[in-house]
Amino acid sequence: MANKDYYSILGVDKSASEDEIKSAYRRLAKKYHPDLNKTPEAAEKFKDINEAYEVLGDPKKRSNYDQFGSAEGNPFSGGGSGGFGDFFGGNGGGFSDIFSDIFSAFGGGRGDSQIREKGQDINLSINLSFEEAAFGVEKSITVGKLEKCSSCQGTGAKNGKEFSICPECNGTGRVRYQQNTLFGTTIREAGCPKCNATGKIIKEKCSECNGKGYQKVNKTIKVKFPAGIDNGQTLRMRGEGNAPTRQGVNGDLNIKVQVMPHKILVRKGDDLFMDLYLPFTMLLLGTKIDVPVVNGTYQLTIPELTSSGTVMRIKGKGIKHLNRDGYGDLLVTIKSEPPKSLDKQTKELIQKLATEIGDNSYTKYNNFLKKMK
Ligand SMILES: [Zn+2]
Ligand SMILES: [Zn+2]
Repeated sequence: MANKDYYSILGVDKSASEDEIKSAYRRLAKKYHPDLNKTPEAAEKFKDINEAYEVLGDPKKRSNYDQFGSAEGNPFSGGGSGGFGDFFGGNGGGFSDIFSDIFSAFGGGRGDSQIREKGQDINLSINLSFEEAAFGVEKSITVGKLEKCSSCQGTGAKNGKEFSICPECNGTGRVRYQQNTLFGTTIREAGCPKCNATGKIIKEKCSECNGKGYQKVNKTIKVKFPAGIDNGQTLRMRGEGNAPTRQGVNGDLNIKVQVMPHKILVRKGDDLFMDLYLPFTMLLLGTKIDVPVVNGTYQLTIPELTSSGTVMRIKGKGIKHLNRDGYGDLLVTIKSEPPKSLDKQTKELIQKLATEIGDNSYTKYNNFLKKMK
């Protein structure tokens, strides 16, 4: 930040008086306040303006800046900029980063739970049918949520205009104070008490939201559940949660998906599984049979002499991969089902059949018997 020319940011001369700097700051802060100025560069400009004023508005920092090109001046001169890094979560951001998220991070004040940087998330869950999850579906969901008041653009002030920049915190919503401890002086930051950390002094309240800047509304949101979404997965819709009660960004809407089971198919990831019980005679003679797939049925050919327990894999007949091309497989485990009961005559027939085929026809069985000897 030593590279930034704070004087030109505020549009003042190097010899400008404190009052000149202050009024230049006020004028620019109002011009670029993101609540009032919706151009994309406004937030960045506002940040720079605040950063410049932080330094030039403070005689000691200004003199350091003039002398060393940095507000901290000589790092050994005390005054502790170190307190900031710690304060902002130890990310080493330092002084210039304090305002970098001015409109998304009014939080940070440890112990000041009233200040929030992000609206609360809304968490809900929804049931999807097996097919809806397989093919994807768009649903309208009505959510009760806090929304930025539209008639005051979230400012809480009548028409979004009847407010002034808080002089205590210069519109930042934050104030800093020195703390003297055994270990020296540190600088702490907290929400500005004068403006309740909003950065604004409201002259006339918005009647729509009673000055709060947000309202509770029922909003119907179209939600696209992508094909392949699975049970237990959560769809996160950024910014569709509650508006913050102070300046900041919306929370998220998190929708947890519960997929109803299919009456036959069992889904594991993108593959589908089923056990197919067939009369033992069908396994011997072979057959064709329809099995369910996501979009109808598939005719499965069971070759003759199929062992019970055989797994037949049908490629590409599973669920669509989530967010990429291709499909999982269908895996059918063939199982032999004996008849419920045998009468005397049937038993005799089967005995005849067994004799006819002969024990020597069974390779695996005979291998087993050999190993047992
Ligand atoms: Zn304030
Ligand atoms: Zn309002």
